[in-house]
Amino acid sequence: MNVCELCGDEASGYLCARHREQLAARLAELPTLYAEVSECLVPRRSGWGEIVATRGAAGPRSPIDEDVLDTVTWGRAAEVVHLWRVDVQRERWPHHGPPPAAELGADCRWLAMELEWIVDHYPAAGDLAREISDLEGTARSIVGDPAPRRQRLGTCVAMTEAGVCGAVISRLPGETRLKCRWCDSVYEGGAALLAFAHFQPDEAA
Ligand SMILES: [Zn+2]
Ligand SMILES: [Zn+2]
Repeated sequence: MNVCELCGDEASGYLCARHREQLAARLAELPTLYAEVSECLVPRRSGWGEIVATRGAAGPRSPIDEDVLDTVTWGRAAEVVHLWRVDVQRERWPHHGPPPAAELGADCRWLAMELEWIVDHYPAAGDLAREISDLEGTARSIVGDPAPRRQRLGTCVAMTEAGVCGAVISRLPGETRLKCRWCDSVYEGGAALLAFAHFQPDEAA
């Protein structure tokens, strides 16, 4: 009888039933979660020109620690998940070449489809589960836990040294105080919210 790599409970493979389900759920959720993260952190292209979220670039200061910004980017999550796919595929089909580059969503789906084999035959299943759990934890530290659906209301109209801020302003259902995560501007109360709505860029422009 095997024991689960994560909790030591009895398991038929490398993970117990509970941790196998948890891993399946995380693989299903991860792409959405990282889409939320990029929504939270990176201002969209706005009518006033592009605001680029790069280290040291002139422009609005990110209220979020830049190291965190580095570790939570979609690119990093996609890279980590892809490396796991490469390794699982190499173990399972040693004579096949490596899988083609793929998006985070596609790699998560692939791993989820191979989950049974992974749990039964892949010795690093515990490490895989731990790393997927870390990726989820990092994302949740930004978007909240559980990740609520944010509503996109528009873009920040505050003036900053680099011009109009332009970061996406979103809110949780029921929230009346809007805060820009990029420049820390707050929109609260009727007049401020009216001004926010009034100065939204023309989407058609
Ligand atoms: Zn377990
Ligand atoms: Zn702003």
